[in-house]
Amino acid sequence: MGKIFTPNDNDFGITDAVVIGGGIVGTATAFWLSRAGLEVVLIEMRDGLSTLTTPASAECFRAQFTEPAMAALAIPSIEMFENFAEVIEIPDYNISIKQQGYLFLTDNAATVDDLKENVAQQHKLGVTDSTFLEVEEIHKRFPFVAPTVLAATFRQRDGWLSCHETTQGFAKGCDARFFINTRATGIQTDPKGVCSVETDRGILQTRTVINAAGPFAGDVGRMVGLELPLEPVRRQKVYVKTSVAIPADAPFTVDVNNNCYWRPEAGGVIIGWVDMDEPVSQPAERVPTDWEFPALTLDKVKRLTPFFEEIEKTVRQPDMDTSAGYYMYTPDDQPLIGPVPEVPGFYVNCGYWAGVMLSPQAGKWVSDLVTGAMDPKDNPLRPTRYKEGIGKKEGKTLMSH
Ligand SMILES: Cc1cc2nc3c(=O)[nH]c(=O)nc-3n(C[C@H](O)[C@H](O)[C@H](O)COP(=O)(O)OP(=O)(O)OC[C@H]3O[C@@H](n4cnc5c(N)ncnc54)[C@H](O)[C@@H]3O)c2cc1C
Repeated sequence: MGKIFTPNDNDFGITDAVVIGGGIVGTATAFWLSRAGLEVVLIEMRDGLSTLTTPASAECFRAQFTEPAMAALAIPSIEMFENFAEVIEIPDYNISIKQQGYLFLTDNAATVDDLKENVAQQHKLGVTDSTFLEVEEIHKRFPFVAPTVLAATFRQRDGWLSCHETTQGFAKGCDARFFINTRATGIQTDPKGVCSVETDRGILQTRTVINAAGPFAGDVGRMVGLELPLEPVRRQKVYVKTSVAIPADAPFTVDVNNNCYWRPEAGGVIIGWVDMDEPVSQPAERVPTDWEFPALTLDKVKRLTPFFEEIEKTVRQPDMDTSAGYYMYTPDDQPLIGPVPEVPGFYVNCGYWAGVMLSPQAGKWVSDLVTGAMDPKDNPLRPTRYKEGIGKKEGKTLMSH
């Protein structure tokens, strides 16, 4: 079983691989590397795993992607979530998975064909159970939706889970060691490539380092002289405690034209809005929230789901809890995964705006790339793709939800 602890001098020495960052992405990576038989140390600067961006998320997952690489990560990741106890080999382990679906809504006639094309593309990519819904069916199945809605896409097996339990499960289900309260401060190289990771508690000698530092992945890249193409953008969400009846079996519901979403949560509802005018910023551990964000977001979600009008009228400030973290954007809005040829032994697993839902399979890919089970050329998310002239934004993406 993985051990999570604050290390002392005796815990440092030689190891096969060091993962920097103990969010869900790094922890899933450590899990798969350990399962592949490597001796693995994960280092996390904070006082626990899953304490920075990962718990700020809405904890949702979907396979409704139109980009081939995103679908290739999401489909097996969801299968792993569905069978999590077997994957980590801990009987009855519970990640509170709820497969109430993802519902993308539009009331804009110009978007209807885009949604239709999305579903056709998803089917081509193997997501064969997503559906395009016509007006009548939408209102029959989801009576809380505004009469103005014209079209939707839906997939029942999409949903949400507990990020905390999932991250802990990956840690418990492997033999890696998880050093908390331990900050990576530098990475040394020699003519063969990476040779050690310096931390504020000691030095780990290794030939393999994985950068899974979430919003700080740019800083970790600079430790080996790389400027990774990463742009951190703050994103916020709100938990609203309310006595207004929320349809408890509702899906994760997205207004694709207004870039906002909501889903039921015990005692209330989670709402979010992806503000396209939010600027790129420097990442920080304490991410500020805007006092007006809950009101702006309530105003947005009520457009296509009018029961929010009642919440808007009755909610009090202390009933709303806003949290924030970063989406990490890349030039094609898809993550960076795999070895960086300029620095042998240095791998990246970063650049996520949907890192929760993609983490299981992304961790597996990194492990397969480290062990040689996957050829770097077969990895569409290799960080060299931009220099190769591939890695461009693709089609009718349903970004950021
Ligand atoms: C409001 C909001 C809603 C979201 N909703 C969803 C959603 O519904 N579904 C979804 O899939 N995604 C969602 N996301 C995105 C998702 O949260 C992230 O993509 C994901 O959590 C990234 O995981 P991570 O492990 O890469 O990052 P993190 O969880 O940030 O982990 C990185 C870790 O690295 C550590 N670290 C950094 N530098 C160092 C260092 N030098 N030494 C040691 N440790 C270091 C940090 O302390 C941190 O714990 C959302 C994000 C936000 C902000």
